[in-house]
Amino acid sequence: MRSTVSFLIGCVLGATGVLVYLHETRQLAVAAEPTAVQRAAMVAQTPKIPNPVTGLIVPVEGVLRTSLRRDFTDNRGGGRTHGALDIRAPRGTPVLAATDGTIRKLFTSKAGGLTIYQYDNAEKLCYYYAHLDHYADGIKEGQRVSAGDVIGYVGITGNAPIDAPHLHFAITVLPPTKEWWKGDAIDPYPLLTAE
Ligand SMILES: [Zn+2]
Repeated sequence: MRSTVSFLIGCVLGATGVLVYLHETRQLAVAAEPTAVQRAAMVAQTPKIPNPVTGLIVPVEGVLRTSLRRDFTDNRGGGRTHGALDIRAPRGTPVLAATDGTIRKLFTSKAGGLTIYQYDNAEKLCYYYAHLDHYADGIKEGQRVSAGDVIGYVGITGNAPIDAPHLHFAITVLPPTKEWWKGDAIDPYPLLTAE
């Protein structure tokens, strides 16, 4: 009888030891630094984490980097190329400042509809947000914004198809004279994605 009790106690102690060992092993695994591949996946799945190279966030709330489709060189008729990135989202989805900077111009045009031109802090690049449904409350020219601030809402103004609301997002390199309408377009896609 005594040996049976000893055997049972031994079993319980042994099982407890195994459980403690497994628990500690798991905690060690959790505490380990993420690998480069894991970090890239985290950036892709968390739109508001700035791209580690460019510092840009995806400028439409809730849109994953992995869902973006490169369309910078798409033909838009009359020999024109697109020169931007279209980010599809339901009408009314918040549009976010892609980086820190200043609202340079609020402008309405036939093609772009309701638009915002934002400069970065160095005034080297201009960020253009078009087809907005409406601006964020209180947004005005000269206003400082931080990456992730809501500046407007996705819409179908300008020449956007009624059944395909999206943000037309362009980035231009400003000339030395800094006119907001004179920049040369560069492809936003590689600057947003973790590539
Ligand atoms: Zn577009």
